Amino acid sequence: MLVVMQSQATAEQVRHVVEQIRALGLTPHPMPGPTRTAIGVTGNTGAVDARGLQLLPGVRELIRVTKPYKLASREMHLEDSVVRVAGTTFSAEGFTIIAGPCSVENETMLLKTAEFLAGRGVKLLRGGAFKPRTSPYSFQGLEYAGLELLAKARAKTGLGIVTEVMDPSQADAVEQAADMLQIGARNMQNFALLKRAGKSNRPVLLKRGISATLEEWLMAAEYVLAGGNQNVVLCERGVRTFADHSRNTLDLSVIPPARQLSHLPIIVDPSHATGRRDYVPAMALAGLAAGAHGLMVEVHPEPDKALSDGAQSLDFAQFDKLLTDLRRLADTLGRTIQ
Ligand code: PEP
Ligand code: MN
Repeated sequence: MLVVMQSQATAEQVRHVVEQIRALGLTPHPMPGPTRTAIGVTGNTGAVDARGLQLLPGVRELIRVTKPYKLASREMHLEDSVVRVAGTTFSAEGFTIIAGPCSVENETMLLKTAEFLAGRGVKLLRGGAFKPRTSPYSFQGLEYAGLELLAKARAKTGLGIVTEVMDPSQADAVEQAADMLQIGARNMQNFALLKRAGKSNRPVLLKRGISATLEEWLMAAEYVLAGGNQNVVLCERGVRTFADHSRNTLDLSVIPPARQLSHLPIIVDPSHATGRRDYVPAMALAGLAAGAHGLMVEVHPEPDKALSDGAQSLDFAQFDKLLTDLRRLADTLGRTIQ
């Protein structure tokens, strides 16, 4: 349920409504807006007798939120959420690029990539220290040593760091090194991890599960929001379909409904979606055209020598070409590449 306050409601009246919601055994989520405050209400397992709230001073109306996800829904939060990460933002006006290698492999390649990207005006560096690999015999990441290298890259270049946390036990350490916590496709419904991310003061990049519906994905986001962390960015990274001409199928058609149903920013990851670097630029541009708020793309100084996902990683020249094309398209669309 959403309690909409009158535009002239006082801070005292808002406080009083919040207390009354708590007195009903429910959880209030005040959301100050440009013209008025709304208070989201969660925690009810059945119908709530909220008629008393309607009569409180300063209350304009009560709106029932019909979707199973509440805090993630557009019904509860009319304006687009703007998520800030390390001095940059994910918003409808911009198009924010997160780039870097699949895995942190060693200091030299990480710093080389970070310096290249920083020189191109990119603000956010990606790189996995903890890697979810299909085979237990594949490179599993440098783990804690990888986090230290990411922290070094941040200190050296000023780039914000986006890196994956696979387990709640790693969260404290990942929060130290990262400006944004990535929750991977395979962990989209790891509820213990989602709850831990809800307690984090770091924004969360929530990848879509390999076969998750939009509703399941938004319910996963709801876990993080319900835990108290309002800074969630969705990432479409391709889903499993019958198609075998690419690694996954980038579901561009999820972007308009996701934006309609939710206020959370959404970005695309054409690298994991296609699995092939020659397909990545077209799908990155398509993501921008389809209304995504940004892009996550794998870039490696020598993709053919990468320890993971080399086939889908762009080299520096390919990234430069993509950036030029993205800027041209963004100009046409009145968007700004961040
Ligand atoms: C990654 O970003 O390197 C990754 C493993 O992504 P996903 O969880 O989408 O497979
Ligand atoms: Mn990867």
